[in-house]
Amino acid sequence: MLGDMNDHADPREGAGLLDGLTASLRPDQLDTSPSALDLHARGESWDAVQPPAVVVYPESTADVRRVMALAHETRTPVTPVAANSSLGGHTVPVAGGISLDLTRMDRVLEIAADDFLAVVQPAVTYPRLNEALRATGLFFPVDPGAEASLGGMASTNASGTLAVRYGVTRDLLLGLEVVTPSGRVIRTGGRAPKSSSGYALTQLFCGAEGTLGVITELTVRLVPRPEAVMGARAAFADVRGCVAYVTDVIQSGMPVARCELVDAATIGAIRQHLGLELPALPTVFLEFHGDAASVRSASELALALAEEHAATEASRATDPEALSALWRARHQAYYATIAAHPGMANVITDIAVPVSRLAGVIEGSLAAAERTGAPTYLIGHVGDGNFHLVLFFPPDDGAAHARVEAAYGEMVELALAAGGTSTGEHGVGLRKLPYVRAEHGDAVDVMWAIKDALDPRGIMNPGKKLPAKVN
Ligand SMILES: Cc1cc2nc3c(=O)[nH]c(=O)nc-3n(C[C@H](O)[C@H](O)[C@H](O)COP(=O)(O)OP(=O)(O)OC[C@H]3O[C@@H](n4cnc5c(N)ncnc54)[C@H](O)[C@@H]3O)c2cc1C
Repeated sequence: MLGDMNDHADPREGAGLLDGLTASLRPDQLDTSPSALDLHARGESWDAVQPPAVVVYPESTADVRRVMALAHETRTPVTPVAANSSLGGHTVPVAGGISLDLTRMDRVLEIAADDFLAVVQPAVTYPRLNEALRATGLFFPVDPGAEASLGGMASTNASGTLAVRYGVTRDLLLGLEVVTPSGRVIRTGGRAPKSSSGYALTQLFCGAEGTLGVITELTVRLVPRPEAVMGARAAFADVRGCVAYVTDVIQSGMPVARCELVDAATIGAIRQHLGLELPALPTVFLEFHGDAASVRSASELALALAEEHAATEASRATDPEALSALWRARHQAYYATIAAHPGMANVITDIAVPVSRLAGVIEGSLAAAERTGAPTYLIGHVGDGNFHLVLFFPPDDGAAHARVEAAYGEMVELALAAGGTSTGEHGVGLRKLPYVRAEHGDAVDVMWAIKDALDPRGIMNPGKKLPAKVN
């Protein structure tokens, strides 16, 4: 039953909620089986585990509206979840209640190629949308590694390898349909390419991590597929050489579409677990999009710069098959590092800083990681100042875990001191909560005022995104 409803709910109302859910939805839209609760108790990469009281599978906006109205009435916590690939404990229902699994809302509703937009339900994944767009010459250019849903991507303001050229999810949202925490259906934004009307609610719900409402429909911007694509790769003796090179590449203003740094340890894991033959050296991977002449001249300039920076090896790639194999491997790099450490726990940073400060912050972060003695991997979307360090430790070694957490804190401090952020793309979830006040100061109180106005009963994904209020 709904005994595990925490202090949000009056336990006497648990039965009322289940009765209400049973009256509003089909039996196969509710699941309290141990396997379903266990499946919804955890996220991709976090040690917090808390099962919900019930998993609910809405199939329409009307279903979501009914569930939210009941949750509001019974003060039941609701945690939205879709592909569950977020990396900070975002979807763990720490307050119990309802795990609102949106995966059945997965229809592409409209493709309006003439207007460069598509309308989708929230569980459509970006690879599926791109598959549906294949014949149009357009694509949706945000590509986080996992097969994430567009609702989840909007909720974390996800980005990926192409953000340096096409922007992040927030830049590609035109409008949303949202069910508010009290069960009202509202529309934000619209279909026009630009608007100065009203407050920017689309942008507010984007990145809210399910703490302000449930996104039930998205209108997203599409971009033309590039006429020509060319890749380049430059390997260096050390990471410092890579970062100096990247800084020059970005500051040269060439039309970079992807700019990723992968260190020797990560290349080793990719070689071992994904079978891709690459030199085991810190390497910068570049991709250029444009017309044939512009990508050729950009790649020539990239090779010339690599030579100036004394690259150990530099080459160009034009074969589309080889390029997509390379980016598939890049997207699997995190899993390759996990496969290299079976049974170990990990934490992953995603700090982002201005590109001019990247070298110092990467160097300081690597030094902090080295002091922990933890196996460490560097993988970065460095073109937009964002990089990940993945640190592994035995899950039952409290001292090792504490050392890793302390280093994590040091890295965030370095990023903030450089004018950066604790999270360039993964979002706060539970993991970054200790750093939000340091990053935003009194602006956190304004964020709480917004949260309280939209969710006065505090039922939407409680315990995430904002640190506890200070009185
Ligand atoms: C291997 C790997 C690589 C990754 N690479 C990247 C990367 O390059 N860039 C990047 O940005 N991220 C990356 N991620 C993280 C992850 O893919 C993104 O955070 C993604 O946006 C999560 O989408 P999802 O559908 O899995 O959402 P979920 O994990 O299911 O949910 C994420 C958050 O959104 C909320 N939510 C979900 N759907 C809705 C909705 N419809 N309405 C309201 N709230 C909702 C949830 O409550 C939760 O707070 C990676 C993850 C993995 C495992």
